[in-house]
Amino acid sequence: MEKHPIQKRELVTVIESPVDFIRVDQEKCVGCKNCVIICGMDLWRMSNGKALLASDYKRFCTECASCYTVCDYNAIEFTFPPPGYGIVYEKG
Ligand code: SF4
Ligand code: SF4
Repeated sequence: MEKHPIQKRELVTVIESPVDFIRVDQEKCVGCKNCVIICGMDLWRMSNGKALLASDYKRFCTECASCYTVCDYNAIEFTFPPPGYGIVYEKG
């Protein structure tokens, strides 16, 4: 049977935040890749040995905070989008 990969980003409804709610401090990042590995939405990649967050992350981030949790170097600052913005829970 042919496999149909799940298009995860199409499963998420997000009201895009007008402000950033995740930041990475390039000075603190040691390039361990934990954030790249853990993000279920594939929003992180490495660039020159440092973590880089996708420029359009606000459209797809599920606010799980996993990237923040697994960064042992306090390089990731995580808050939440302002009230009324961010991920929409449609199926309870
Ligand atoms: S988890 Fe933290 S230290 Fe590791 S690559 Fe990501 S931002 Fe850098
Ligand atoms: S909060 Fe979750 S979905 Fe958003 S960038 Fe971090 S790991 Fe990825």
